[in-house]
Amino acid sequence: MSAAELQPNAQMLEMSHVSHRYRDGPGRGAAAAAVDDVSLEVGPDEVLCLLGPSGCGKSTLLRLAAGLERLQEGRIRLRGLTVADPASGIWLPAERRKVGLVFQDSALFPHLNVLGNVAFGLDRLKPAERERRARALLEQLHLAEYARVFPHQLSGGQQQRVALARALAPAPPLMLMDEPFASLDTSLRSQVRDDVLHTLKASGSATVLVTHDPEEALFMADRIALMQAGRIVQIGTPEQLYCKPVNRFVARFFGELNELPGRVEGGAVRTPLGPVAAPGHPEGASVSVLLRPEAVRIVRIREAAAGGSHVLASRLLGRYSLIHLCVHDEDGREYHLHAHVPGVQLPAPGQCVELALDESQVFVFPAEAAAV
Ligand code: ADP
Repeated sequence: MSAAELQPNAQMLEMSHVSHRYRDGPGRGAAAAAVDDVSLEVGPDEVLCLLGPSGCGKSTLLRLAAGLERLQEGRIRLRGLTVADPASGIWLPAERRKVGLVFQDSALFPHLNVLGNVAFGLDRLKPAERERRARALLEQLHLAEYARVFPHQLSGGQQQRVALARALAPAPPLMLMDEPFASLDTSLRSQVRDDVLHTLKASGSATVLVTHDPEEALFMADRIALMQAGRIVQIGTPEQLYCKPVNRFVARFFGELNELPGRVEGGAVRTPLGPVAAPGHPEGASVSVLLRPEAVRIVRIREAAAGGSHVLASRLLGRYSLIHLCVHDEDGREYHLHAHVPGVQLPAPGQCVELALDESQVFVFPAEAAAV
């Protein structure tokens, strides 16, 4: 890839109408596409997370971008240069795409110590500069004390952090990462994510990060592409996906939801917690109102009074309290809702509550057809 071929203002990665079928594909059947007509762009400095359940095609998409899987359909461009376009017979192999790669368990070079591993990709630098850069990366990832240690002396989690440092050291213009934090202990994971995010932002590397963990995507991403069955269901900022999900799959992917059935009357749905606006839904339509547990606000706690909304149980779950509530609609039907409230708030079972809704975390979708 010569510099003259590259367009300075181009997107770092452009995938257009990319599809991929494994010949002997398990899962959704041999004929089903692992990736089905996906288009996306990643801008300079941007962290894009590919998020979705296992088997939805995230890794395949990443491998296609890297050139580890031969493109069958569509077109891929890196910094404006077409690297894969089967219709035109264009194919640039992985080693010439100059992208950084990190996988869940990346292998280190066993004969090189940690410093040697991290310095490995810096061969264009003078030796002193190489060592300075490698040591800086080890500092950033809290690995400085391991510089002279060999891979077999490290735990799996430490090896993965060294692999991250090695991939980040050359500050590649595009970094492709497939579940890079999955093998780390929970206690270390958030620290390493934070370190990696700061390093990526400091180096200006555009990044595609595969994860099945919505919290990780919210933490890392400038934009999230949520995938289902080989397709992108919604792509946008974390706020857009969390607060404006396009369907119930997207809404549910980010956590548990309370669901209340209802009917649109005068542009709104009456719920036990008050009316909820239903713009875009036809009058009379049957709908489901989905409420995130944090949307259910406890305005006041009172002593028991017959028939009102009341507490069934309360549990402290660490950062927030989960309150099980019993509410009733106008016809006296009973519903069990979950509310998440910050900190330690543990009202006693039977206590009556006055509830309100945070409408930014309330979503109205057409009712699901009953199973036949
Ligand atoms: P994800 O990364 O979201 O878990 P993958 O891209 O790994 O999903 O897989 C997408 C689909 O392709 C799945 O049905 C999976 O079983 C199938 N698949 C993945 N890799 C191969 C392969 N090497 N050979 C055959 N089928 C594969």
